[in-house]
Amino acid sequence: MQIMKNSLKTGAGPGEWFTGAVYIDTVAAPGAGSRLSASYVHFTPGARTAWHTHPNGQTIYVTEGVGLCQRRGGPIEVIRPGDRVFFEPGEEHWHGAAPDSFMTHLAMLEVDEQGQSATWGKHVTDEEYSQQPG
Ligand code: MN
Repeated sequence: MQIMKNSLKTGAGPGEWFTGAVYIDTVAAPGAGSRLSASYVHFTPGARTAWHTHPNGQTIYVTEGVGLCQRRGGPIEVIRPGDRVFFEPGEEHWHGAAPDSFMTHLAMLEVDEQGQSATWGKHVTDEEYSQQPG
């Protein structure tokens, strides 16, 4: 038996980027010839990202709970374990947990030449968040 110990601490998602309590486990960090960034993101009920874009797009893969996501101008969509969402490069969007459920997803993207993973905008208001899913 061989146990490879996790050496990384779970980090709290910063308040500029998230509403509510969000915790992030790093899976892959860019650098040393790789642009891959992968994070395991845990949203508590009602927690969500702010509006944002990714320079090279992003794939999220839901592993637990019930989530919500929305692109600017589109309806809120319900996402569940096994669902994958690809956000196009530059497409403004948010993702998070449903109001009464936890949600965890694996988030994967490639950072740009400057190492940037996202451009952040305004928080998703309670009014925006409470729209009925399409
Ligand atoms: Mn995103």
